[in-house]
Amino acid sequence: MTDCLFCKIAAGTIPVKRLHEDEQVLAFPDINPQAPVHVLVIPKRHLASHAHATTEDAAMLGHLLSAAGEVAQAQGLENGYRLVINTGPDGGQTVDHLHVHLLGGRHLGWPPG
Ligand code: C5P
Repeated sequence: MTDCLFCKIAAGTIPVKRLHEDEQVLAFPDINPQAPVHVLVIPKRHLASHAHATTEDAAMLGHLLSAAGEVAQAQGLENGYRLVINTGPDGGQTVDHLHVHLLGGRHLGWPPG
């Protein structure tokens, strides 16, 4: 989608530090980190949110989680981490392109706000 921020990041139009990349996904640091490690992992193909996924997206979703695990390992998060997918207004989603937050490097409280 031409007017989607994360599509522009995936395409390289908006530069980011590309921490992990393959043909399907891209990982880059969140611009407003909420933890010592805060990385976003996105599919390169536009999908507005997790709620928009269908069974046809199952392989991509699995790959997204798998890639997030690889990034966690590369970031040295041996003590644990959290993956978050904010979805829709009640879920706190602000960018309408599916993304997984990878948070770590400190103890994370529960429940989230
Ligand atoms: O889950 P949510 O949609 O709120 O997350 C969007 C995330 O995208 C935020 O954590 C925000 O800091 C991040 N962001 C970014 N780079 C931008 C705009 C937003 O990393 N240019």
